[in-house]
Amino acid sequence: MTAAIRTVGLTKRYGSVLAVDGIELDVPPGDIYGFLGPNGSGKTTTVRMLLGLVLPTAGTVEVLGARIPKHARSVLHRVGALVEAPAAYGHLGARANLSIMDAAGPGGARRTRKARIDQALEQVGLAGVGRRPVKAYSLGMRQRLGIAAALLRRPDLLILDEPTNGLDPRGIQEIRKLLLDLNSSAGTTIFLSSHLLAEVEHLCRRVGVVDRGRLVLQDSLAALRAPTGSVVVRTPDPEWAVGVLDGDLRERSGDRLVVRAADPAELNARLVRHGIRISELAEERRTLEEVVLAATTGSSDRVDGAVPPTMGVRSEVLSSDDSAWDRPPPGPPMPLPTRRPTTPSPLQSPRPEPTRSEPDWTGRCSCGANCGRSRCTAIRSSSTSRGWLVV
Ligand code: ATP
Repeated sequence: MTAAIRTVGLTKRYGSVLAVDGIELDVPPGDIYGFLGPNGSGKTTTVRMLLGLVLPTAGTVEVLGARIPKHARSVLHRVGALVEAPAAYGHLGARANLSIMDAAGPGGARRTRKARIDQALEQVGLAGVGRRPVKAYSLGMRQRLGIAAALLRRPDLLILDEPTNGLDPRGIQEIRKLLLDLNSSAGTTIFLSSHLLAEVEHLCRRVGVVDRGRLVLQDSLAALRAPTGSVVVRTPDPEWAVGVLDGDLRERSGDRLVVRAADPAELNARLVRHGIRISELAEERRTLEEVVLAATTGSSDRVDGAVPPTMGVRSEVLSSDDSAWDRPPPGPPMPLPTRRPTTPSPLQSPRPEPTRSEPDWTGRCSCGANCGRSRCTAIRSSSTSRGWLVV
């Protein structure tokens, strides 16, 4: 069976920073996979390599059976992706933005576009948003729009990096339900990167835990949360119970006892036989938080003084093999073409919305071209590194 995602020895180095170190991901089709790790552990870098947005320093990536980036064009239209903050044209509404994204690459038939946009907006709860421009959206609405963009082509695989960022608890619940529905009804494979353990615990069947760029754990949630072979008992008669349990007692804190016992029912019967009252009795299982905290060492993006040799702050210059999508052009601001840019690919951030240049505090035009006027005709890009668009 072809894996939905398979990586072998996947490595990414930014100068001296080893962001991803030999990761071997294995995500079977139809799975809901949680990719967990502390801040700065390499999740986003891995996701970017899965999508061909960043080139690996070493190792291979296969998505839906195709090598990435070599065969990216043939397969990425079957992949819906949301990486970090979703990008959209602020002056356009949700429908217009989705229409542009859909037209930008292969895989979306024009005649089904309207229906697919309506369905995606319905799925994420934005059906009634009308023509309101995206710049007037709340953070949660922008996130929903990003998820709608990922769903637009009815993908076989969804790769979502922190999809519930900025959503309130009800929004998180809605998106969780939507993802579960997509998985059960359409068999969509879901790869979800997050550091929200509760979200992953509610949604995923398998998890991979990454720490300082290394995959330190990859297993099914059921196996990771299997009973530990002990039973947790709460009793109003703890002293009495301690005497009865003798050498089986593993831990005690107040009325809570942790007892080595393979069969909770047998332990219950034994305590009751001795007249011990029981208020709670359950098999002990590790929480996902305990599993992850035991497997990881701490936030990789902490900069407390002594920075570990392989990791550090985002201080390195991008290596030359990175996609141009990741970085502003080097050197002084470059003039932009006088035509409007063509439509972006769904994975590419649209150019920032242009704003007309205003006088600065001295009363001179702030266009940066040293024009000397109080207000000129230059249109300023909101990203100064992009330069100027003169109309
Ligand atoms: P978070 O959960 O906070 O989003 P993450 O697990 O996604 O973190 P990454 O963003 O993949 O972590 O970063 C992993 C490491 O790689 C970090 O040390 C980061 O500083 C470094 N890094 C990421 N992108 C670059 C870059 N373009 N140039 C240099 N270093 C980078």
